[in-house]
Amino acid sequence: MNSIAHWIGGAERAGESGRVSPVFNPATGEQIAEVALASAAEVAGAVAVAKEAVAEWRAASLSKRSAVLFKFRELLAERSGELAAIVTTEHGKVLADAAGEVARGLENVEFATGIPNLMKGSFSEQAATGVDVYSIRQPLGVVAGITPFNFPAMVPLWMCATAIAAGNTFVLKPSEKDPSAALFLARLWKEAGLPDGVFNVVHGDKEAVDAILAHPDIAAVSFVGSTPIAKYIYETGTAHGKRVQALGGAKNHMVVLPDAELDAAADAAISAGYGAAGERCMAISVVVAVGDIADPLVDAIAARLPKVKIGDGADPSSEMGPLISAQHRDKVAGYIEAGASEGAKIVADGRDISEMSGFFLGPTLLDNVNPSMTVYTDEIFGPVLSVVRVDTYAEALELINSNEYGNGTAIFTRDGGAARQFQFDVNVGMVGVNVPIPVPVAYYSFGGWKASLFGDTHMYGPDGIHFFTRSKVVTSRWPDPGTSTVDLGFPQTR
Ligand code: NAD
Repeated sequence: MNSIAHWIGGAERAGESGRVSPVFNPATGEQIAEVALASAAEVAGAVAVAKEAVAEWRAASLSKRSAVLFKFRELLAERSGELAAIVTTEHGKVLADAAGEVARGLENVEFATGIPNLMKGSFSEQAATGVDVYSIRQPLGVVAGITPFNFPAMVPLWMCATAIAAGNTFVLKPSEKDPSAALFLARLWKEAGLPDGVFNVVHGDKEAVDAILAHPDIAAVSFVGSTPIAKYIYETGTAHGKRVQALGGAKNHMVVLPDAELDAAADAAISAGYGAAGERCMAISVVVAVGDIADPLVDAIAARLPKVKIGDGADPSSEMGPLISAQHRDKVAGYIEAGASEGAKIVADGRDISEMSGFFLGPTLLDNVNPSMTVYTDEIFGPVLSVVRVDTYAEALELINSNEYGNGTAIFTRDGGAARQFQFDVNVGMVGVNVPIPVPVAYYSFGGWKASLFGDTHMYGPDGIHFFTRSKVVTSRWPDPGTSTVDLGFPQTR
């Protein structure tokens, strides 16, 4: 059995805790590896190595750091196919989707190559007579990332590219369900010339996470995962005095106004509802059909479903792969059952393909869903699209603004004024106008509102730089030696 080790100080380090977790190929349902689960002592060992590496790395010039980022970017671009294949094998998403994930992660690396510009402070000459004031941004030291199973390459890249470019050293605790992408990134960082100890990977579960949250030498924790764990990470990490950003789960609504282009809206609902088998935090899980577009829209979505090709993600003709685990597939199937018993109409039932080996579930469409049903209230994280019918735009808006989550949303309409009003009104962090999955480009920042994010800063882009650095303001006087006097009054800007 292939054993997946940690990566500490520039080399693989076999696990010593004696605890391991199985890793599956979700398309076949077979176990393909086991991954070491770190003890608190092993986490402490990795943090000690990362701490040792801080002095040299933060002293490296901006151009040297940028050069490492450029090299890393080149290697990642050259070998993106290999990384995508690793993601497909352990996660199950189809190859094209895995390649898309790597490409979006690559954009974050490209953004971080501009670190000399991004770390610029500001300067005020003559803030007082003979006094200049300037601000500089400095790294925090050792920082940690804790990431979810659904983007095993992109989400670590969201964090580590910016954190490392800014001069921090990094300890990554990836999902134990698909841990190999993190090791692939570790090898690329080394090949790119990153000094040993700057990027480290410790695999693990709650024990490793708790060790990270309590470790006094970790200055900041960046987390992406489900809402209950995000809340726990935020509360525990901040109680230990750390800076924490914790992105949580989602329930993303796509509003379709009566004037929307029907085919484009139906295509978007399929792409955003069932891509990656619905295991995206930006997946559309609720279509809010406004007025008389509901019947033709449901028909148009239903007509497209039989054409979605389900299969092993490694087969280039597959469009939708399996779910991450048998337990998760069964949980999602349970929601379909619950939806039906609560009164939703099953237009398409994904359980019909359950004879396939692997953790597959077909695309499911539920109509006449109402906000009290569990299929509406819970984040399902599977290929289940619910249609809620409302009469007016105001009802659609009220539905979204009442929802506990606020990650992404989209509106489909030909009316620019309505779209602008929606963008103004909606209490959600990322909004698409005729764009179903509005993941911001790398030079903006990614983050939801409400229970989709705990903390103040969003992920990557300008907020990422802000999160992984702290500012220092220097007030400086270079006086003419002849003008010095004693003055016990409070300094004033004269
Ligand atoms: P998860 O919360 O189960 O796990 C995330 C990380 O936390 C993993 O590294 C895991 O090992 C660790 N973890 C799990 N249980 C823990 C516990 N009890 N104590 C401490 N650590 C624990 O999430 P997941 O199932 O891997 O990922 C799917 C979830 O992530 C979905 O809810 C999805 O919406 C969310 N997500 C959000 C975003 C976003 O940007 N908001 C992006 C991707 C995924």
